[in-house]
Amino acid sequence: MKHRLRTKFSLTIALAMLLTIGLVSLLSNFLIEKQFTNYLGIQQEKRILEIADNLSQQYNSTTKTWDSDFVHTIGMYALNDGYIISVTDAAGQVIWDAETCDMTMCNQVTNNITNSMAMQHPQSQGEFTSKSISLTKDNDVTGTVNVKYYGPYFLNEDDFQFLKSLNLILIGIAFISLIFSIVLGTILARRLSKPILKTVDATKQISQGDYSVRIEENTNTTELDELIDAINHLADSLGKQEALRKQLTADVAHELRTPLTSVGTHIEAMIEGVWEPTEQRLQSCYDEILRIGKIIQDLENLARVESENLKLDKKQLNLTEVAEKVLGNLEAEISRKKLMVSIEGTRSDFIGDPDRISQVLMNLISNAIKYTPDGGQIQILITESDQVVEIRVKDNGLGIPEDEQPYIFERFYRADKSRNRLTGGTGIGLAIVKSIVTAHGGTVAVESRPNEGSCFTVILPK
Ligand code: ADP
Repeated sequence: MKHRLRTKFSLTIALAMLLTIGLVSLLSNFLIEKQFTNYLGIQQEKRILEIADNLSQQYNSTTKTWDSDFVHTIGMYALNDGYIISVTDAAGQVIWDAETCDMTMCNQVTNNITNSMAMQHPQSQGEFTSKSISLTKDNDVTGTVNVKYYGPYFLNEDDFQFLKSLNLILIGIAFISLIFSIVLGTILARRLSKPILKTVDATKQISQGDYSVRIEENTNTTELDELIDAINHLADSLGKQEALRKQLTADVAHELRTPLTSVGTHIEAMIEGVWEPTEQRLQSCYDEILRIGKIIQDLENLARVESENLKLDKKQLNLTEVAEKVLGNLEAEISRKKLMVSIEGTRSDFIGDPDRISQVLMNLISNAIKYTPDGGQIQILITESDQVVEIRVKDNGLGIPEDEQPYIFERFYRADKSRNRLTGGTGIGLAIVKSIVTAHGGTVAVESRPNEGSCFTVILPK
């Protein structure tokens, strides 16, 4: 079952609060019940002793008589408080008896207490009991008081009122917390759902191809901010990808159209007899066709590398040996351009896909050869540490303008287009390098200054 965030939060907070309040009520009722009734029992004992003490004071030792007026007053006060007393002298003669004095009131007091306790506090399981206490004056027993009272304790109206108010306060707190939790849940949910809904809207827009959308919201919640950043980043990179894809299509079309048109017009002119089919002209057509073939081959290469990167065939390999082999393949070009090429560093062992790693070196070294004028220098440096191996391909060639450096690893990106007309680059070599290095969990970076040279650094984890 699906609920709105607001309902969920409100319900959860309300449940937690009600549980806590319920628990507090139960516990407090239990504790109060226990402590309070204990206290009432003690108070009752005290009150009985106090009655006895007061009565003792009413005996006159000299005249050996009781002050019956005061005894009556004490008895009536006690009756009011729920204690039915009867006082006898040392000889057992009744001096004052509440029931004789006012039977109706005694019955009323007894009934009142019994009824209210049975109704409002049945758990006390009390009943009327009586207790006799000797009355003494100057260490002489002067009589006895018999106290009839509701034991082990009883609650008067004030006590009941106190317990009632306490429960009312707890119910009030529960009610207020309920409202509080709904309000809190709503506010919390609104604060959370607002950025989430905005994110949902943004993702919908992204899925419809609008990559310009950005969420400008600071939520003060780490996870939400991260989500927003991730979505913004997604839109950004999708936008870049899209731009690149458009650029790529335009580039491919352009790259293919130029040589195709040129070959087409050349051949057309030769067919129509406008041009003699000289060897030079045929060669030019052939070169253009080769160039078209190269672009197509590069495209295929990239597609293959990207799909094969998913299943690398890793083996133990020696980087220096791989570099030497690559140089061997490029020997003709190196000697044609009279380049000085050196391999330096340790003979590092590394676990990776030999074909893919050799492709990385091939692309980097052939770029270095391509973009270094005749007689230049190329250095291949291989070093290693505990965790990584580092391969640097350094040349003192043309270099790359700083503002173009961030893009050279993107497919079909070619720095300084005019230069590429001459070298015949298609802008795919470094995209392949990056794809392979990333698949091995490594990184590739460039440092370069125009007209001073470039240094490509590949770092691979061991
Ligand atoms: P390309 O087929 O054009 O060489 P790459 O992807 O290999 O494609 O390289 C992208 C661009 O980076 C190139 O067009 C070139 O301008 C620049 N570049 C790559 N390597 C070097 C280098 N060693 N020296 C100067 N520029 C380089």
